[in-house]
Amino acid sequence: MASIAERLAAVRADIDEACREAGRDPAEVRLLPVSKYHTVDSIREARAAGYILFGENKVQEMAAKHAALHGEGIGFAVIGHVQTNKARQVAEIAAELHSLDSIRLAEALQRRLEGTGRRLPVLIQVNTSAEEAKSGVRPDEAAAFAAALRPYDLLEARGLMTMAVNSPDRDAVAACFRTLAGLRDALRDADGGGWDELSMGMSGDYRIAIAHGATTVRLGTAVFGPREY
Ligand SMILES: *Cc1c(COP(=O)(O)O)cnc(C)c1O
Repeated sequence: MASIAERLAAVRADIDEACREAGRDPAEVRLLPVSKYHTVDSIREARAAGYILFGENKVQEMAAKHAALHGEGIGFAVIGHVQTNKARQVAEIAAELHSLDSIRLAEALQRRLEGTGRRLPVLIQVNTSAEEAKSGVRPDEAAAFAAALRPYDLLEARGLMTMAVNSPDRDAVAACFRTLAGLRDALRDADGGGWDELSMGMSGDYRIAIAHGATTVRLGTAVFGPREY
């Protein structure tokens, strides 16, 4: 079996190729390795290959790994739904939050960030697939949600995040990514800039996401192998 370093190199080369096919500069697309359910030693292997930021979907798991890896130059992006009562840990530990989906959470994060001297880069998660099981604001709510975030000045709204529909239908997957890119363009037009980040694309669909403008692809299985639950 390939090592984590070999998988990272292979998947990065594939991202670069997908960029070239889409007429995009590979430097525009960031690979975020998703380490959920994988060990701290796996994270260390990826760190040795040059990756310093890792995606985790559970705050508790992130906090445990953060403690175990303290001083090793590793940061975490929270990519899963966050309960308001976990806001303190996110404010203290996370380098980024990709799954902001309620004003209540924004309020709780702002309160916890006050006094820390930190600001938190956030992405608004949009539920582009309309699947019940997925979190995120509805596409038709995204603009109002973005406006409602403005008072929370310790949150830096950088862009949008989505998970595409679970489907083998590539057109349906592409439609989700197209929706997110369209919402981002509208926000950017309204604000005269900003909203650069489009976090979209996972192991099964990242090439489609890149074709539709992804700036961050979140890859778990393609980097670390299958998860053992
Ligand atoms: C687990 C997860 C990923 C990575 O999934 P893979 O299919 O293993 O690449 C990406 N984004 C989110 C929000 C996740 O929870």
